[in-house]
Amino acid sequence: MPSEYFFKKGLEKLKKEGKNFFLFFDFDGTLVPIQNNPAHCLLSSPIRGQLKKIILSGSASIAILSGRSLPDIKKRVQLDGIYYGGNHGLEIAGPGINFIHPEAHSFKHIIEKVSQSITEATRNFPGVFIEKKNFSFTLHFRMACKEDKRLVRRIFHSIISERFAGYTFRVIKGKQVLELAPDTMWDKGRAALFILQKLNRNNLPVYVGDDFTDEMAFMALKKRGITIRIGRSQKTEAEYYLKGQYEILKFLKTIYGIIER
Ligand SMILES: [Mg+2]
Repeated sequence: MPSEYFFKKGLEKLKKEGKNFFLFFDFDGTLVPIQNNPAHCLLSSPIRGQLKKIILSGSASIAILSGRSLPDIKKRVQLDGIYYGGNHGLEIAGPGINFIHPEAHSFKHIIEKVSQSITEATRNFPGVFIEKKNFSFTLHFRMACKEDKRLVRRIFHSIISERFAGYTFRVIKGKQVLELAPDTMWDKGRAALFILQKLNRNNLPVYVGDDFTDEMAFMALKKRGITIRIGRSQKTEAEYYLKGQYEILKFLKTIYGIIER
């Protein structure tokens, strides 16, 4: 079922459900606009300020679940007292939680080898680069020309299926990126449920994200919480949508308004 505009339909539901929230956010494309170079994505001061106010209110918890590595996401957000999930939740840290998925460790070495092979094979394509993330890596080609994008995708898949045929991986297709991760039964949805369970919280989960990987969380949380996609889509599992990333500040201010009433 297509989602409905949050500020038209979802807000009333959110107000009715109470004010004790557990807010989950994706990072790129949700808390920050997507940039050509992911190194340029930093949290803006107005967004950081609103998140901080929400945390300091003591009425809500916040988790940021990203495909980036844990150290990278922490460095870009720089807020204390919140939960961080790196590698789509394979590594989670925050008050009372310090978690690394056991299978992430065992795959680390082979992921590194694949990353080296793909780095070598794609090094002469302008605008193509690899982001190493400890337990996974991402091949970025947003800045490459159309022809190179096609070639680089083909190289990625052929290296995995030919040179590393004996292994199974999870390939995650993102926005102008391909990611290689351990083949575990784990995703942002399971990570969000894990956090709620581990902390034994009865807060209302509210999840905001824009990616395919966030769809797992929409599915996991839609019965017990409020799920919001950045950008309208016919195919999403999210119940509501925001018109674009630019509405996130308004959203955070609204949440704070509800908490403070
Ligand atoms: Mg995203």
